Amino acid sequence: MTKINDKSKYLHIDGVSINEIAVKLKTPFYIYSETTLSENYLKFKEAAIENKIINPLICFALKSNPNKKVVKSLAKLGAGADIVSGGELKRSLECGICPQKIVFSGVGKTEEEINLALKSHKNGIYSFNVESFEELELINKLAAKAKKTARVALRLNPQVQVKTHKHISTGFKTHKFGLLREDILKNLKQRKYWSHTSLVGLSIHIGSQLTCLKATDKAIKELCQLALETGKSFEFFDVGGGLGVDYERTKDKPSCFDYMKLVSNALEKYYYTRTNDRPRVVFEPGRVISATSGHFITKVIRTKTSGDCFFAIVDGGMNDFVRTSLYGAYHEIIPIKKSKRKVVSTDIVGPICETADCFGSGIMLPKLMANDIISVSDVGAYGHSMSSNYNMRDKPREFFISKKGKVSKC
Ligand SMILES: *Cc1c(COP(=O)(O)O)cnc(C)c1O
Repeated sequence: MTKINDKSKYLHIDGVSINEIAVKLKTPFYIYSETTLSENYLKFKEAAIENKIINPLICFALKSNPNKKVVKSLAKLGAGADIVSGGELKRSLECGICPQKIVFSGVGKTEEEINLALKSHKNGIYSFNVESFEELELINKLAAKAKKTARVALRLNPQVQVKTHKHISTGFKTHKFGLLREDILKNLKQRKYWSHTSLVGLSIHIGSQLTCLKATDKAIKELCQLALETGKSFEFFDVGGGLGVDYERTKDKPSCFDYMKLVSNALEKYYYTRTNDRPRVVFEPGRVISATSGHFITKVIRTKTSGDCFFAIVDGGMNDFVRTSLYGAYHEIIPIKKSKRKVVSTDIVGPICETADCFGSGIMLPKLMANDIISVSDVGAYGHSMSSNYNMRDKPREFFISKKGKVSKC
């Protein structure tokens, strides 16, 4: 839990004073709360169980936060992994996630990555979520060479438009992801694809930061209709990730419970009423598990007034945290010390030579001064994992607050 301690007037996360850490450690840095992380995972899982989702498998999308302590902590709770590279495969395995709980998505899986996944277990990982028939042909060939039968799911492009940022919408015809329904039906019997692969599932993933569930309902409908048309039975349906986070604190976003209820109702309506097949349901949540567990701590280097604008120039930049620059995302900014200074309109900007290098513009904050420390909230997803060395800057370090309140580097 994050709050300003009334006595000390400083921001605390799980009882740890961020000021105490920030004066000892060099800013900028990320800090993650294990308590929040596991609460988010358990909330998601319990919502699935409460809504009678069949044998749910929750595969954490590593790309949102592949930090070792984060992944280990989720592995201990029983999470699987949704991976998109060989690096993420290695990270999942080293953090204790078993291959039978790993699904591999992505349009550009290489021969080397496919072999690595095939080698990880008797018949490889839980599922290769296949995005093209060219890829399927290669998996089939490599599995034959390895004398294995690869488990695959076909990722359907359900052709739905979703209301999210255009960079993170993935389920429309013009997007590179997934396969079209007619192509799937056409290729179901071709030997060059299927001699050493076994079709165990169907998958979808229509985008990220979804805050309206209508498109999800439509996509699940498409998935169920396709499944019925194939005449096959499936071990699982993978409904992807993408559930949004309430960054703006408007409290009008769908909760995990709302989401699970929708998934459950959609499967009932479009599938269970038409067949006796009862596939298990796989989920690939990233953001909704990791986002609120992370904070980015950065220090004001100096302030500057330019005409009507008041800038606080901080030591963190868009190379450390890019979501505000890249997606125009909103992230709440909290000065870590309570203050009685006059509240003024402030632009929080970094040191990078780009105008987009900005964490918040025109936000009302007690007037900042050099050496003040601020926290950028909800950065546990697509924060450090998207950081870079742009401008030859070091990548920010990461720290972890364990459930026992112990802070360690990670
Ligand atoms: C990115 C991604 C996810 C996770 O998305 P979130 O919005 O973080 O939940 C899940 N599945 C696939 C295939 C992805 O590419």
